[in-house]
Amino acid sequence: MKFSRMILAVTLVPGMIAGCGDSEKPSPSSSPPVRERVAEAARRVHHYFHTEEQPHQADWGYTGDGSPKHWGDLSPDYVLAKTGKEQSPIDLSEAILTELPELQFVYHPSRIDLVYNGHTVKEVEDKASSVTVHDEEFILQQFHFHSPSEHTVDGDHSAMEMHLVHQSEDGKVAVVAVLIEEGEDNPAFDAVWDYLPSDANRERKSPTTVDAATLLPKTRQYFRYPGSFTTPPCTEDVLWLVLKTPVELSKEQIEKFRSIIHGNNRPVQPRNERTITISG
Ligand SMILES: [Zn+2]
Repeated sequence: MKFSRMILAVTLVPGMIAGCGDSEKPSPSSSPPVRERVAEAARRVHHYFHTEEQPHQADWGYTGDGSPKHWGDLSPDYVLAKTGKEQSPIDLSEAILTELPELQFVYHPSRIDLVYNGHTVKEVEDKASSVTVHDEEFILQQFHFHSPSEHTVDGDHSAMEMHLVHQSEDGKVAVVAVLIEEGEDNPAFDAVWDYLPSDANRERKSPTTVDAATLLPKTRQYFRYPGSFTTPPCTEDVLWLVLKTPVELSKEQIEKFRSIIHGNNRPVQPRNERTITISG
C-alpha cells in the first residue's frame, strides 16, 4: 500500500538563516559549477535530494509485494538491496571503542517545509547547517523519521529514529541518526510536530524556524560504520554516524507521529565484514 512507503521529510528552506552574514562571502567551494555538480550527483543518488516529483521506478513500500525483501527485484536500479554487502540498517553491537574525532555540528535555525512523501523534497541552494567529520564538511540537506527505529542496539529497537541527511561538496553522503525513546515530553520537537502533515503529497510550511541542533542529544558519543541508504535504491558509500544517546519524546508525541506513519523501517541487514567503531 502506497501509504506505508512514505516518509515524513523535513526540508530546510533558505533565506531565513539567523545571524549568518558570513554565508554571504563568496568562497571557491561554493561556486555554481560545484553546486550544480553536487546537485546533479544528489539527484542521481537518492530521492531524498529530488527537487521535483520523480517518476516512480517501482512501487516499493514496507508491506506486501513491495516490502523490503522484494526491493532488490523491483527494479534493476534497486539491485544493491539484494546484492550489496554494505547495506543499512544494521544491529549495532560489538562496536570497537576507538578514538574518533568529535562531531562538529554547526547548525542554524532554519525555516522548514514538511512533506509527507519521500518523493517530493525541495532542494535548498543556500544550505548553512553542517556537520564536520574527520575535517570533512557535510551540509545538512533534510531530516526525516522512521517508526520504529531502523538500527537496533544489541537487538533492541527504539521507538523511533531520526535521520539527518548530509552531503559534502563532492557528493559524499553522511547520515547522522538519532534514536528516539519514549519518555519525557520534548518541547524542542514542537516546531516540527505542530505542523506534521496528515495528508499525502501535501507540503506544510512551519511558520517558525527550527534549529536542528535542539533535536540532538547533549551527549554526542557515536557509532560509525559504512552503509547505505535504507530505502531504494539503497545506494552504498553512506557514512553512518549513529548517536549512542537517544533523545526522549512523550508517548503522546510518538503516537502523534504514528497516527500518520508507522512501520516504515527496513529490517536490519547482514553486517558482513564491516567493523563498527564507537567513539570514547
Ligand atoms: Zn531514513
